Amino acid sequence: MAIVTDLEPLQVGLMFWTGGDLGFEAAPGEIVESVRSLGVSCGQIGVHGDADLSEPSARSWRSALERGGLRVVTAFTGFHGESYASIPICAQTVGYVPRASREERERRTYAVSDFARELAIPGLATHIGCLPHDPADSDYVAVLELVRRVCDRCAENGQTFALETGQEPAPALLEFLRAVDRPNLGINFDPANMILYGSGEPLEALDDLKDHILTVHCKDGTWPETPGEWGSETPLGEGDVGMQEYVAALKGIGYSGPLTIEREIVGREQREDIRRAIALLNGLRA
Ligand code: MG
Repeated sequence: MAIVTDLEPLQVGLMFWTGGDLGFEAAPGEIVESVRSLGVSCGQIGVHGDADLSEPSARSWRSALERGGLRVVTAFTGFHGESYASIPICAQTVGYVPRASREERERRTYAVSDFARELAIPGLATHIGCLPHDPADSDYVAVLELVRRVCDRCAENGQTFALETGQEPAPALLEFLRAVDRPNLGINFDPANMILYGSGEPLEALDDLKDHILTVHCKDGTWPETPGEWGSETPLGEGDVGMQEYVAALKGIGYSGPLTIEREIVGREQREDIRRAIALLNGLRA
């Protein structure tokens, strides 16, 4: 299973956002230029919860991407009201798990799927939230049914739907994927999240989840010092993932999609870290 693209095998790409995370709020053309100036021509776009999904906005993004020669393989859906301030706050605010915003976020997901279709993006992805451990829990069942509906909407738009990894250990995620049972459902594997959330050894998880990987993030981090708290994200190659082993493992399971760098800080340091990450990955993918 892999996302269908017209890219080189293991082409290095970048996760960027509809505004903000490359250090400024800007028009689509400026964001595309900012990404291209780092030397990448593919990536994933994070769609902020408040991003404008109107037709004029979609047209503006589409022409900016075409003009700039930037191929986007995934639209990552973020939601208004999410916070990653701590793991407990993340569990209360992220994805489809919080009941109060569930319906509104389902509608927003459909809108992002339609927006992504206008941008010719073949995949949608999101953090669905921290699932209850018990598959019989009513929230677990509600999120599962919601994910089925999202998969079906994405299928109508010719898209895959990927769950961001990290919040669940691999066996729990596998159980959920099997229970949802939709052919266009898969994961966006993020090795650093497994470490940051303390959810298990990333390379073991990669092997367990290998049949479900649509896309991957290249991100690094160190294990939490206190269980239940975040580990620390680091520049690529400086954390506990083992980037050389990670890229070798991706080749080993036959993954050939893009290597999308995600560096979740802002400003000059982010750009410098991204430049070094691109050089590192271009060396490792060869
Ligand atoms: Mg990620």
